[in-house]
Amino acid sequence: MKEDVIEKYPFLRRGLIQYLGEGISVKSFLEENEYFLQKSAALLYSIMNGEEVSFPINGEERVKNYIITKIILTYIRDYFISARYAIKERKVLYDTLEKESDIRNLKSVSHELNVEIEKQDDRYLIPIPSFLRNAVVFNDKELKLCNQELREGNVVASKHVLSKIIREAFYRKYMTEVNEVVEFPPDVDRMLKPYVSEVVSKGREIRQELANMGPLNEKSFPPCLAEIIDQMKKGANVSHAGRFFLVTFLHRIGLPNDEIYKYFGEVPDFAERITRYQIEHITGTGRGREYSVPSCQTLGSLGLCYKERDPLCSSGKISHPLSFYRTRNLGNRPVSKSGPVKRVD
Ligand code: SF4
Repeated sequence: MKEDVIEKYPFLRRGLIQYLGEGISVKSFLEENEYFLQKSAALLYSIMNGEEVSFPINGEERVKNYIITKIILTYIRDYFISARYAIKERKVLYDTLEKESDIRNLKSVSHELNVEIEKQDDRYLIPIPSFLRNAVVFNDKELKLCNQELREGNVVASKHVLSKIIREAFYRKYMTEVNEVVEFPPDVDRMLKPYVSEVVSKGREIRQELANMGPLNEKSFPPCLAEIIDQMKKGANVSHAGRFFLVTFLHRIGLPNDEIYKYFGEVPDFAERITRYQIEHITGTGRGREYSVPSCQTLGSLGLCYKERDPLCSSGKISHPLSFYRTRNLGNRPVSKSGPVKRVD
C-alpha cells in the first residue's frame, strides 16, 4: 500500500498490518515503540487540556501514534476522553476527504467503514441504509434525507455530502471500538498505567466540573437559549449578541468546539472559517480569553429574555441562564459524579 494513503488514512487495516505486524503481542509492540507511547499520551493530555494540537505528518509516526492512542483509549475505556480525541480525528479525516480526488482511495476508506459507494459521473451513490445510519448530525440541512436525490435505493450525493457521511461513519465505528470491554494482560496494564494516569486525572477533573451541570440535555435549556436555537433552525439571522450567548453557554456546559459549531449549521450568513474563528475566540481556545455567560439582566437589556415562557423564569428566582439549566437538569435526572457526561436526547 502506498505510504501517502496510509498517512492520510491511518485507520485502514492494510496500513495497520504494515506497521503493527501480524502475530505480534500488544506488549511487544508497546515495548518496541515506547517513544510513540510517550508521544501519544502527551498528545491525549494536550487534547484534554484544550490545547491546539496537530497530528504527526510523517507516515510511520502518524500510524503508530494512531494505533497506540487507540490502545490507550481502549485501555482507559472512558467515553468522555475518547470522544474528545475522536472528534479531532474526525475533523482531520473530513479535511483530507474534501481534498481527495482518487476514487480508489474513497472506495477503500468507505469500505473500511462499511459504506459501499459507487461513482456515477461527478456524484456518488450511497445505499440509503448507510446514509441514514451516518446522517445523524444535529441541525445539518445537507444531511437530511428529504434534501437528497434518490435513485434505486441509493442517495445520489455530492462529494461534500459523501465526505460528511464517511466522517460520521468513522466516528461511530471508532467510538464503538474504543469503548468495548477488552481485558488487558497484567504486564500490559503495568506498562500503560504510568503513561495514562495524567490523562485519566484530567478527564476526571473536567468531568467533575461538568457533573455540577448534569448530563447534556437540550430539554433543560432556558427559554432564551431555546429561542436562539429555534431561530437558527429556521434559518433566521440571529444577532451577534445571541450567537455570543449561545457559544458561551454551550461551552460552559462542556460541549467541545466542534459540537458547538454544529448549532451554526443553518445560519444564513454561514461561513465556516469565520464561525470557527469566532467560537475559538469566545471559548478562549484560539487567542482570545474565555468569556463568561451573560446574566439574565444583560440578556434582558439586549431583548433576549423570554421569561414569560417558563414559570421558573417568571417566578423571579432565576438570575442566570446557567442556574436555570442546573436547576432543571439536576431536578429532572439523577447525575452520576463518576460516570461520563452523556447526551440526553
Ligand atoms: S429569566 Fe434568564 S434564563 Fe429565563 S429566559 Fe430570561 S434570561 Fe433566560
